[in-house]
Amino acid sequence: MDSMTETLERTTHVRRAKIVATLGPALDDRERLRAALEAGIDVVRLNFSHGDRESHQRRLDMVRDLAVRLGRNVGSLADLQGPKIRLGILPDQGIDVPTGSEVTLYPGRDELDSYVSEGQTALPVVYEALARDVQPGALVLIDDGSIRLVCSRVENGGVVARVVAGGIAKSRKGVNLPGVEVSAPSLTDKDTADLKVAVELGCDWLALSFVRRPEDIIEARQRVHALGGESPIVSKLERPESIQDLEAIVGASDAVMVARGDLGVEIGPERVPAIQKEIIDEANAEGRPVITATEMLESMINSPRPTRAEASDVANAIFDGTDAVMLSGETAAGRYPVEAVRTMARIIEVAESSPHLVHPSPPPHSEATLGRVVAQAAVQVAKDINAVAIVGYSISGSSVELVSKYRPTMPLIGLTPRKTTLRRTALMWGTEAALVPMKGAATDLTTAAERMLVDGKWATQGDRIVIVSGRPGGQGGTNRITVHRIGDPVGD
Ligand code: PGA
Ligand code: MN
Repeated sequence: MDSMTETLERTTHVRRAKIVATLGPALDDRERLRAALEAGIDVVRLNFSHGDRESHQRRLDMVRDLAVRLGRNVGSLADLQGPKIRLGILPDQGIDVPTGSEVTLYPGRDELDSYVSEGQTALPVVYEALARDVQPGALVLIDDGSIRLVCSRVENGGVVARVVAGGIAKSRKGVNLPGVEVSAPSLTDKDTADLKVAVELGCDWLALSFVRRPEDIIEARQRVHALGGESPIVSKLERPESIQDLEAIVGASDAVMVARGDLGVEIGPERVPAIQKEIIDEANAEGRPVITATEMLESMINSPRPTRAEASDVANAIFDGTDAVMLSGETAAGRYPVEAVRTMARIIEVAESSPHLVHPSPPPHSEATLGRVVAQAAVQVAKDINAVAIVGYSISGSSVELVSKYRPTMPLIGLTPRKTTLRRTALMWGTEAALVPMKGAATDLTTAAERMLVDGKWATQGDRIVIVSGRPGGQGGTNRITVHRIGDPVGD
């Protein structure tokens, strides 16, 4: 990918929805990572809830190096932890929290000298304002809700709670407070430091956890810009507030994630399937990429094969119209990371070739911009004239993103002069992309598109293609559709 122009070889690979895979110890081995990339990872997720700058840097360097060698366009997504409340450090064997007993939670503590205090179990919680935010009667859920407590009283700065469902509490497990308005800022001090690292590493997308208000997104975007970065923001929808204000939050975001893990703990797993559809519909109507995440192939952490329910879950996310699906523990810490990616790719391919696949062609939103109308029209033109491919030329990536949302049935090739844009398109449904030199004139663009498509065997003499772009040389503003027949003279 070092030369400015490259050939984008056509492969037999027909998958359109994209795969995001979380990096972690399970993919630290170079050969395994190579196999997992070959199996179909499109975007890697750096999870800032774990690891340090050095580990993220090392992993990303390895991904970028392998991507070049494999000739694959792989994007990166830095995922900030957000105001996630966690237990502090506990002894290795964990602490028994028996049903029916009382425990005391100590806020703002990383560790305790003793985990039994006055005959009661004591647990450190690394969140300062816990005792202020929680009222008697509030639910406190530990480790995705496997341990459930009800707050009885707040005393001497500690939260005393009765154990409704017991278990073994382990170090650093998550704590959720459903229905409690958490007062922690959306960007914690750790997030501010991690955001800087993400910008310095040149991550292509930045994900924000526990987004509550549109202002959270605007603030993060300003911080990125202030650091000289430009990563677009993915809002992780995992708090009830974000669902209540869905339209505004999707509108303020560059992309969204259905973060089913924490969402399920916060609002109950039975409400997740319908909300998943609601979020995907909203993202498609607003023209924003959407990722469906968490526990998609969970059993593959320990097994080389998925359950039937998991295969169904991945396929149904595709039928719902998601742009991308995500693997978390499966690739970060599981025993079968390569198999998990391969399995996911296969499920997507089969789902996409089934008659159940609906190509959502969202009508332009009430506040449709010109770009959306142009993108939709381009997809219609391409279909009507039997074009073999649609080419989106874009500096920012927006022309490609818009065309992708109208789900063209023919290949969509993104051409861009910018490497960051190239890698960003890796998340966009159905998009292949390549670098081309900056095009200052429409004729140059048509010539470059023709050469790219012919060299890559996407098109031959006489085939028709559709090119969507802004004003060549300008940035933003998708406003052109060019129809070209391969071999015909190019001129204004
Ligand atoms: P996480 O986010 O894996 O960072 O918690 C995704 C989710 O909650 O589903
Ligand atoms: Mn989460």
